[in-house]
Amino acid sequence: MTTIDLTQITQKLLHDSPGDDGISLDTSQGLDDATFNKWAKRFGLDPEGSNYIVRPNQFHDFDDASFDPDADGDVPIGYMTMPPPSKRAITETEGNDDEFGTECILRYSLKEHIFSYPHFPSPIPRPEKPAYEIRESPGKGVGMYALRALSAGELIIAERPMLLGPPAVNVQLVWRRGFTHEDKSKVSLLEWEKLLETVFKRMPPENQKAYMELANSHTHDGSGPLLGRFRTNGLGIDTLVDPFRTSHAIHSGICKDISRVNHSCGPNAGRAFDIATFCFELRAARPISAGEEITIHYCSVMDKCSLRQDQLKPYGFRCTCPSCTNHVVSDKRRASLHSLAPLFMQWMQDRSLPGDYVIKECLRLIAVIKEEGLETHPLYREYLELISKCYDALGDVGQSVSFLRQLKLFDKVNKSPLYASYALKQLGEQLIALSRARVPPESEKKKKKKSKKKAAKPADAAPEPLEETVD
Ligand SMILES: [Zn+2]
Repeated sequence: MTTIDLTQITQKLLHDSPGDDGISLDTSQGLDDATFNKWAKRFGLDPEGSNYIVRPNQFHDFDDASFDPDADGDVPIGYMTMPPPSKRAITETEGNDDEFGTECILRYSLKEHIFSYPHFPSPIPRPEKPAYEIRESPGKGVGMYALRALSAGELIIAERPMLLGPPAVNVQLVWRRGFTHEDKSKVSLLEWEKLLETVFKRMPPENQKAYMELANSHTHDGSGPLLGRFRTNGLGIDTLVDPFRTSHAIHSGICKDISRVNHSCGPNAGRAFDIATFCFELRAARPISAGEEITIHYCSVMDKCSLRQDQLKPYGFRCTCPSCTNHVVSDKRRASLHSLAPLFMQWMQDRSLPGDYVIKECLRLIAVIKEEGLETHPLYREYLELISKCYDALGDVGQSVSFLRQLKLFDKVNKSPLYASYALKQLGEQLIALSRARVPPESEKKKKKKSKKKAAKPADAAPEPLEETVD
């Protein structure tokens, strides 16, 4: 889940080029009365008794057949159902006709990106047998619990969000001099709420009911009831990036069930958004027993306990997970986790170092990862990747593949592009090639020959068959 900071609700001064009337806006101080009145006239609004004007028709209905994306000049922002019913017919034939579409707030360019995404829309995957139930969680309201034992990587649920939107919208407004920053924040929150109302009304009644039943920890900061719930329950989506925008605003989705999953600093599940099915997938990050509560993380798990508790304050609870309860030991353990990519580079370049120099250290830190329940953290992926690379360099294909398999499992759970080649992205092809010629120092002579042979061989083909075997 993402908590949305008030400071992200931004105002945007109109950046339209000066109109025929020659009005240009170049001040954040607000407008004098004469200029303000001219802008009001331009929008066809009555300026009397108002200190600000919101630009009308900023948000468009993309489902409206008469909508023209090129009319505005800028990339328009609007709302629509995703996948649209016309496209969803494809999935209906495959037995997903009970699924609703997600009500989305997005830029037109992102809509185009989603439409051109390979295999969009794909049918929603289902676990073979029901894997969870939502029930009361002592001290936490409700939570999600495993109905049966789940293995690492197993799908718990794939769920299409009820609502999806950016963390903030730029509300375009002009204001009179003397209108304060706080006033502008209030107006932005109000306008954000109005937009959410428009989108909320488009949801099926059962989703409206489910949405209003979600927790709201933003009741005293000016957020309306819809925005409050959006900010409390939003699950961040970092795979949904608008290719035409430079800023990587992370969108948030609100789910009926996955938004009920509680937090742990050592979560046993990972979630990722799949654009093709337009669903969040929740998967076990390690084996989960029947009856165990399923958890994800809402905060930065590598921070020490006191900082994590601060980050969790907006959600209105204090974490009592095993790591927070035992924070003196846990903080020390978490602080010991760090990237081993530099160590790997050193090992590749210095042949006098023992063969297991990096592997040993990776295994030591993987043990810490497991003690702390951090199997969804990218460092875990890095250690698996490094061990696999080391075994590959040492010529032990069996071990190399075994760790690569665990790495593939990690990717299945976490999917995010941020995780890809976390450790090795800076190392470059040359060093990777060098790693393949790495030999243990104790058998220098024999291995020298082998290394020559190895170098002549094409790059190891070990990863190839994995695609079929890992699932
Ligand atoms: Zn905790």
